[in-house]
Amino acid sequence: MGYVFAAPPQPVVPVVGTTDLFPVHRIYCVGRNYVEHAREMGFSGREAPFFFAKPADALLPVPEGTTGELPYPTETADLHHEIELVVAIGRRGRHIAAADAPGHVWGYAVGLDMTRRDLQGEAKKLGRPWETGKGFDWSAPISPIRPVARSGEVTAGRIWLKANGAIRQDSDVSKLIWNVAETIEHLSRYFELVPGDLVFTGTPEGVAAVQRGDLMEGGVDGVGTLKLRVA
Ligand code: MN
Repeated sequence: MGYVFAAPPQPVVPVVGTTDLFPVHRIYCVGRNYVEHAREMGFSGREAPFFFAKPADALLPVPEGTTGELPYPTETADLHHEIELVVAIGRRGRHIAAADAPGHVWGYAVGLDMTRRDLQGEAKKLGRPWETGKGFDWSAPISPIRPVARSGEVTAGRIWLKANGAIRQDSDVSKLIWNVAETIEHLSRYFELVPGDLVFTGTPEGVAAVQRGDLMEGGVDGVGTLKLRVA
């Protein structure tokens, strides 16, 4: 017995400063997790966290010190950047209490939850799923992962994004409505978290469109930076 065709490659994210690779299982994302972003999307900023997912092979890892290339997706005229702190899970667990959550974190990365905002907006209006707006190919650019052994627990730090050198998003991870530990607590009620899961923790205010040729550069202090051009 064998596969009927070659098995798809295992999605991976490089680990900072090594040749090691973090094998990815699933990508979870948190919606509206900074008050000012929730407000700019028309909400009060006070609600339980909610989750959506992207396929693991939607990742676009960008090696340290390089400029990645993000193909402009089809069927949109409103491609938005959402800079986010990404948590890499290293230990299995369900119903994880916030107090125990740090023990499940393997490391952190900087990610972009790229969004076809026009398609997402239409899906919201019609009560349809978000996949075409959120889960398209290359919709999850990501920096190398920094192991928690090297970063410490990340509970604060500037999170920012520039487009063509102009600052668009500028906040602090300490302003997360649901911090990393609380996010893991909530998420692990719905899904068993396993080593290889990534959690995009939400974006601060300032989301906006990019065009072909635009250069995006973003980062989270103490975690890393991410640079890529829209092609
Ligand atoms: Mn997001």
